[in-house]
Amino acid sequence: MNHGDWLIEEQTPSYRTQWRVRRVLHEEQTPFQHLQLVELEDFGRALVLDGAVQTTVGDEYIYHEMIAHVPLFTHPNPERVLVIGGGDGGTAREVARHPSVKGIDMVEIDRAVVDACRRHLPETACGLDHPKVNLVIGDGLAWVAGRSDAYDVILVDSSDPVGPAEGLFNRTFYENVYRALKPGGIFVAQVLSPFFHQKLIRDVYQVVASIFPITMPYLAVVPTYPSGLHCFMLGSKEHSPLRPGIGAPTWRTRWYTPEVHRAAFQLPPVVAELLQPA
Ligand code: SAM
Repeated sequence: MNHGDWLIEEQTPSYRTQWRVRRVLHEEQTPFQHLQLVELEDFGRALVLDGAVQTTVGDEYIYHEMIAHVPLFTHPNPERVLVIGGGDGGTAREVARHPSVKGIDMVEIDRAVVDACRRHLPETACGLDHPKVNLVIGDGLAWVAGRSDAYDVILVDSSDPVGPAEGLFNRTFYENVYRALKPGGIFVAQVLSPFFHQKLIRDVYQVVASIFPITMPYLAVVPTYPSGLHCFMLGSKEHSPLRPGIGAPTWRTRWYTPEVHRAAFQLPPVVAELLQPA
């Protein structure tokens, strides 16, 4: 790809997102995926995996604040947190801001993602080097399968359900997540777009709701992702994300506030309908 070329992300056979590329910073085939770090005209530097834009400097804060702060402010005292995936470091960066958090295990399968983000995405990769973070290069599936009663919050910041992330969207994994959580534990997974991934959201909701007593999807607008509307699935053992008295950040955020937190759970009917069995 050269200066001025278009990076084309095919969402469906008849819908594509196109990004004007300023330059390619890094490109390699890793054992797990095709990895690119590119600089885009409008959204700045970006991580691209198998042709799909994962995060951009331009709007990464929306996704990372929403995947982290919604569950961490829902939990009354989160101390131990697990992040699966998230090799760009943005989720760990946001989790580490919470004063109650004592330790973050971050399990990313692809070392090449971590290395390339450290070099080209320091805005998010700074999260990887926070003293609270224990970075493990390994498979999140195996990590979770071997643990019980270990975490207050588990965040699944995965790529789409193909390749290494495929198993992060099935029942066995969610059952293992439940077991790995302490009493009162909460998990959140990114589950893509309510416009383009309706079956996935419906299926994940049904499975998670059969395991967790409280299961609630929530939404955020992230221009980088297909359709702009992005969905997260929250499963909680005890605490409702709409309980009164959730805390508020004592640091500057760009997207998350307690009001945005509550509003994110207000689902338009077309999305709420996805929660009904097919
Ligand atoms: N925020 C992005 C999005 O919603 O498109 C995803 C971020 S990207 C950093 C997700 C990461 O999950 C990738 O770096 C990928 O290597 C990692 N990943 C995929 N499958 C995994 C697995 N089984 N265990 C651990 N990490 C995994």
